Amino acid sequence: MSTVKQIVLSDGNILKKNELITISIDDMSETGEGIGKVYGYTFFVKHAVTGDVVFAQVTKLLKNYGYARTADIITPSKYRVKPACPIAKPCGGCQLQELSYEGQLEFKYQKVKNHLERLGGFKDLEVLPVKGMKAPYEPYHYRNKSQYPVQVNKNGEIVMGFYAGRTHNVIQTEKCLLNMGEDAKILAIVKEWMMKHHVPAYDEARGKGIVRHVMIRYGKYTNQIMVCLVVTKEVKLTESLVSKLLEIDGMTSICLNINSKKTNVILGDEMIDLYGDGMIVDKIGEISYQISAKSFYQVNPIQTKVLYDTALDYAGLTGDEIVWDVYCGIGTISLFLAQKAKKVYGVEIVPAAIENAKVNAKLNHIENAQFFCGKAEEVLPKEYKEHQIYADVIVVDPPRKGCEEVVLETMVKMESKRIVYVSCNSATLARDAKYLVEHGYQIEKVQPVDMFPQTVHVETVCLLSRKDK
Ligand code: SAH
Repeated sequence: MSTVKQIVLSDGNILKKNELITISIDDMSETGEGIGKVYGYTFFVKHAVTGDVVFAQVTKLLKNYGYARTADIITPSKYRVKPACPIAKPCGGCQLQELSYEGQLEFKYQKVKNHLERLGGFKDLEVLPVKGMKAPYEPYHYRNKSQYPVQVNKNGEIVMGFYAGRTHNVIQTEKCLLNMGEDAKILAIVKEWMMKHHVPAYDEARGKGIVRHVMIRYGKYTNQIMVCLVVTKEVKLTESLVSKLLEIDGMTSICLNINSKKTNVILGDEMIDLYGDGMIVDKIGEISYQISAKSFYQVNPIQTKVLYDTALDYAGLTGDEIVWDVYCGIGTISLFLAQKAKKVYGVEIVPAAIENAKVNAKLNHIENAQFFCGKAEEVLPKEYKEHQIYADVIVVDPPRKGCEEVVLETMVKMESKRIVYVSCNSATLARDAKYLVEHGYQIEKVQPVDMFPQTVHVETVCLLSRKDK
């Protein structure tokens, strides 16, 4: 939609860009902006939360709605808190630091409810209160993985940190309040090594330079650390880097990932181990998991346990069931389920993750799990057609874009009694649940879990059952 120069409000007044407005915020958008109306015209207001009354400067006007940025808070909302992080505003990582944690959980509840209602057509559906982080844990310091982009700033200095909201300009951030562990120490070592050996940072605009990202992963329950440098080509003289990093307790894997492409995707295909075997081990509940750089692993280990326990509970296993875990990653949910099922089959697209999954089954002496590497949309229909596979229970945990229709179609054909849909995007959950409900299933329970405090993201576990079983 194109911008307009001015808006005529319902009281006859004219409003232009840069002007100041007084606005009461009565809702929030999915991306965390406050929403309010000025004489019938809707504004999305940055850094305003539900219940605030603010002075805001108009930044953009479109025909039906506009954008503004909070200039001053007139009456703060009961949910408003002072952000704990000094760069919460410019940094794009957190969107809800100005909301109390209670307010964040309410925001996430509404988000899931709205998606199910608007995109799934599920009116009057009960959504359970969001399971948030509880004492003694705080809704900070929960992330076990971080990926810092590396750049050279205008003064020629190397900066490592996070992108400023909606830009690719890096803000220097030694300490992100969401992360566990000692990122600052690791980043300082990498920076010193780059300066000493004149290893240049990658210049995204010109596609030149070497170091693109520093990825760090922690095993919360094992204290193991992985550091992966994403570089455009293999670099030499890494001995001093490795020996310095090894001074940090728990350093288990140091590796290079080669990504020479002009792309926003962080990791490239090739991995080179500088120290260790390219993986770390972590635990969730009783199960140990090997995790390699390229494998997906939930970022909030405390809440992952809550999420998996909910999924396991909804699966309702007695020990006799055949279960499919579709989009299984390194077999995390599969192995959780295998403890209580007759047989679990997992399917996942990333070969390194499937390798991890197979080793993870052995590591935990689990013999009733089998893994397939491939696209769910190819493996599931093929196994169904060629081997008449079926399932008593199916667990799906797709990426943000949700399930391909052929996956849903095959799940329906498999006629499993229950489907446990674990979703990181309630919009695609709503779309997919609508399909399943139109094809013989009903929604039994919807349980959001807060895996990502301070951000607008929310995970949801949805239990569906076959109407005729
Ligand atoms: N259940 C796992 C992983 C969930 S994340 C866990 O909780 O850890 C989603 C997973 O789907 C990722 O591992 C991703 O690599 C995988 N994936 C993405 N597209 C896929 C596809 N088309 N077919 C199979 N797996 C896919």
